[in-house]
Amino acid sequence: MSNVLDFITRHLTDDDWMEDAACKGMTHLFFPTPAERPQTRERREDAAREICQSCSVKLVCRNFARDNHEYGLWGAESEDERHTAGYRLIAPIGVRARQSS
Ligand code: SF4
Repeated sequence: MSNVLDFITRHLTDDDWMEDAACKGMTHLFFPTPAERPQTRERREDAAREICQSCSVKLVCRNFARDNHEYGLWGAESEDERHTAGYRLIAPIGVRARQSS
């Protein structure tokens, strides 16, 4: 039990888990380019989610992004999905723009 708690605590309190990220070197799939079109965003995020599905740190990654108000796709969750789930972005420019159009 103590080993489990140590593991969870370590993964929630530092960034070591990033060493096991399946997305290393693929930043272009996880963050939008300026003025990205909706169809392009959808295709990019679908490709990123495919990578996340087999990633061993998916849940830690998702929680990290939620706790730190991150932008982009983390743990198979987009910033729009985090925002909708109640994990507000600090400045949700993309969400606001898409919701007002
Ligand atoms: S869950 Fe996805 S975004 Fe998070 S580290 Fe793994 S591949 Fe990267």
